[in-house]
Amino acid sequence: MSGQTPTIKVLYFAAASTATGLTTEEVPIPEEGLKLSELTNTLVSRHPDAQGLKEIIDTIPQKPVLWIAAASFAMLSYWMYSDIQISLPYNKIPTAMSQKSAFQASRLTPSTFLIKEYDDIYSEHPHIYAKVVPSANAILIIDTGCGGASNDTGIGIKSLREFIETVDVEDNAGQPLNEGGKLDYVVALTHCHYDHILGVEDFAGSPILASAHSSSFLDREAMPEHSLCNALNIKTPKYTPTLVPHGYDIVSAGKASLGMQILHTPGHTPDEIALYDEAEMMLYVGDSLYEWEPIIFPKEGSIITWFASMDYLIDFVRQKNAVVQTSQRGDGKPSDVLINSGHCTALQPALEVLLAAKTYMEDVVAGRKEVLSRRQNRGEETVTYGEVGDRFSLRCPERLVLDARDNFKTRLE
Ligand SMILES: [Zn+2]
Repeated sequence: MSGQTPTIKVLYFAAASTATGLTTEEVPIPEEGLKLSELTNTLVSRHPDAQGLKEIIDTIPQKPVLWIAAASFAMLSYWMYSDIQISLPYNKIPTAMSQKSAFQASRLTPSTFLIKEYDDIYSEHPHIYAKVVPSANAILIIDTGCGGASNDTGIGIKSLREFIETVDVEDNAGQPLNEGGKLDYVVALTHCHYDHILGVEDFAGSPILASAHSSSFLDREAMPEHSLCNALNIKTPKYTPTLVPHGYDIVSAGKASLGMQILHTPGHTPDEIALYDEAEMMLYVGDSLYEWEPIIFPKEGSIITWFASMDYLIDFVRQKNAVVQTSQRGDGKPSDVLINSGHCTALQPALEVLLAAKTYMEDVVAGRKEVLSRRQNRGEETVTYGEVGDRFSLRCPERLVLDARDNFKTRLE
């Protein structure tokens, strides 16, 4: 665009051409972009003498009344009544023309992208992962974020699905991750907390997989409380999960493998799961652990159960690492499993992170870490260990730490 004002080219047909006396016109795009819904007024104001131009455009609903092209771009047709901004394909679009989105995507592996909700009003900045499997005509979505509510009032795209289907991603050759929704969705929820499920209603009609470990935990009546939506006074999304067993291999609607296994790893919540991508040696652990932000347990969690799940994952990763193998995630060199969490942590060596998190939690339970603050949360005395900027810190009801301490003492006796 090199300094030139970007323009769109408008082609006039039939009555519109008669009224304006033109067949084509270049219309400059203002800095702040141009909404299609405002295009009628823009054109009318450019042609004050064009008899009945507004009526001509207005009376042809649901038809592509105008062909809009930008110099050297492919021709695109638009429907005047869709309230979307003009966007043109690929990276040639002047940024002023594309809508701002609540999400950003970057590539993790040849198949998988990290989608981050980067400025949400809850300050959760949740990680969403999308694995594209063209051979199965499917896209697996791990978690759905917190619904696109952003601190940035200029955000136009709040729907995760709209982002996936319409927003060009530089790391994906400038294409949306699932352009036009041509791949079937399979959604897996690492657990039912609000910051992982608020986008789930976008995917109604697709399989929504969740843990069968403690099925009553996901009962519809319990969801407002267990999702923490009640505590935040927000509407609980409605969805009907398909509860799957430990070791379940995820398949598409056509029963093709997506190369991802579900592991039950309760602790953070009873329904917490991890997912393992065998070919790419990638482990996705949801909120079981992450670095640089407090690991949080709600009152429904259990540190005792968490230790058992972490021991399971440590063994699991050790076995995978022990087999000399090349993963399909990159350079073809023998590699170790990498860990990707529901917040903050991605692409880190799984074994090291798991062991370090476990050691930290052992220190807390053994009384080697100090409580830095206390407050009441959901009717319980809640303690925080560690500070912002520490690699690991913890926030949970004090009862969970004391239960774990008792449990260890009993085991040592
Ligand atoms: Zn959570």
